Amino acid sequence: MPGPACSHDAVVLGTIDYGERDRIVRLLTPEMGRVSALARGARGSRRRFGGVIDLGARLNVMLRAGRGELWHLQEAELVEARLGLREDLLSMALLSYASELVGAFAREHHPERRLFGLLEVFLTVLDAATAPPGSMFRAGLEVKALTCAGLAPILTRCALCGEPLEEQCHFAMDAGGALHPSCGAGESVPPGFLLALERARMTRLVELLDMDLPAGPTWLLARFAEHHLQRGLSSRKWLETVG
Ligand SMILES: [Zn+2]
Repeated sequence: MPGPACSHDAVVLGTIDYGERDRIVRLLTPEMGRVSALARGARGSRRRFGGVIDLGARLNVMLRAGRGELWHLQEAELVEARLGLREDLLSMALLSYASELVGAFAREHHPERRLFGLLEVFLTVLDAATAPPGSMFRAGLEVKALTCAGLAPILTRCALCGEPLEEQCHFAMDAGGALHPSCGAGESVPPGFLLALERARMTRLVELLDMDLPAGPTWLLARFAEHHLQRGLSSRKWLETVG
């Protein structure tokens, strides 16, 4: 007996074609975290769902529990299409990256209200942007996603001794952040760069939109995220190319 269908807010994290007519949709919801749902008839000549199931779209969905991990998508109503995200390559690459990064940290069958809110704000701000965003905007997403996932990097003091950073500092993935050179090995990072990341963590995304990171290892937090995920983020390569 199928269970009752429930209504959820959702952002589309990705889709995979399944058979000739169906599609599996990856969704992020506030109440249930990451959800995979079978959308029957989403492909083919007479598409159900009216083509609203696009990456980054905000939907209101009706989900019904299926067998195993896969849910059934009964209905999908478009709340926000975010067509501005498809107007240029950088926005498209940031859309892919944000969906992959936030989706990777979101758990299944577990509330993920903060990660949902983060992705929602990031995509809304990006959709409305009138100029290409600066690198602080992307760093803000990374540091906030890590923080939501309970993996906030230590950026303003030494991860080993807890004392303030000095002119020279290291960053060590295994230590969880910055280190005095005398406290441990790591890659050399300017302290000002780490302070900018901390500022990005404490600042609203909309205020970071036009800002650029200072000199430093631009992809440090992406690599930190990949270190925790124990895999690479495939969309990062594309973003590095167009960004
Ligand atoms: Zn130290």
